Amino acid sequence: MNNEQRKIYNKSYYIKNKEKILKTALTKQVCEFCNRSIIKNNMHIHQSLNICKRTADHNTLLKKRKEDTKIFVNELQILMTDNSKPNIIDSKDMNQENENII
Ligand SMILES: [Zn+2]
Repeated sequence: MNNEQRKIYNKSYYIKNKEKILKTALTKQVCEFCNRSIIKNNMHIHQSLNICKRTADHNTLLKKRKEDTKIFVNELQILMTDNSKPNIIDSKDMNQENENII
């Protein structure tokens, strides 16, 4: 198909499907990288812009921090529930310390 044939084909395709093309062209989609709502036809351009890339980097950083925090909290809970190490202070010792202070 040469350029002239392609132009004729595209024009006839557009005329046949004009309503469908215009209807879907203005629908919005959520960008998978930055979660912004973008018109479907502008998605490719949007994903190449700095605003999308910066937000995607920021979201990746936040996700990593959230996962690191979850790991830290899990390790902390394991340490808190570990029964092999006595972490409860004996009440007699507490009373003696209080008497010494007074
Ligand atoms: Zn985006």
